[in-house]
Amino acid sequence: MQELKNHLSTTLKHLRKNRGWSLDATAAATGVSKAMLGQIERGESSPTTAVLWKLATGFQVSISSLMEPLPEISADTVIRDAEEIRNIPGDKGMAVAPLFPFEPRFGFDLMELTFLPGYERVSEPHEPGVIEHITVMSGKMEILTDDIWQKLEKGQTIRFRGDKPHGYRNRNDEKAVTLSVIHYPHRT
Ligand code: MN
Repeated sequence: MQELKNHLSTTLKHLRKNRGWSLDATAAATGVSKAMLGQIERGESSPTTAVLWKLATGFQVSISSLMEPLPEISADTVIRDAEEIRNIPGDKGMAVAPLFPFEPRFGFDLMELTFLPGYERVSEPHEPGVIEHITVMSGKMEILTDDIWQKLEKGQTIRFRGDKPHGYRNRNDEKAVTLSVIHYPHRT
């Protein structure tokens, strides 16, 4: 939790410096308020998934790059453990483990997403071309796409456009553990 805050604080300052963006310019590009940006940079805020996505879309970076430093993954064979890298964003009812964070040569994020009972979030569109794939490993959940909540059970998988409004919810009494592949076709 604190690690997520610290990493995000460092990354946001770095991204802003890199782009030469003021807080005003960053607020305009991301839709995150100046006050919230300041809190994040001071490590005072636990950002929600919605805020993380706004930053990712505004800066045109992967969501995983905002969660933890890029691991040493230059080797061809890499083993990662979700238990060790699972984060809980500020919106609480979910957890995210960036199993294989985005690398330009592959063009995707592979994440474990856990949705607790009662969780519901409707997301703004991500950058153009982004496609999401969600596979349910345990429990049940629903994905909103094309204005329909699609029910998914263990073993089922869905592909949908991340660049249109979409949502995630769990109306059951057990958690849903899923694997998410987010493909960023235009990212370099
Ligand atoms: Mn999404």
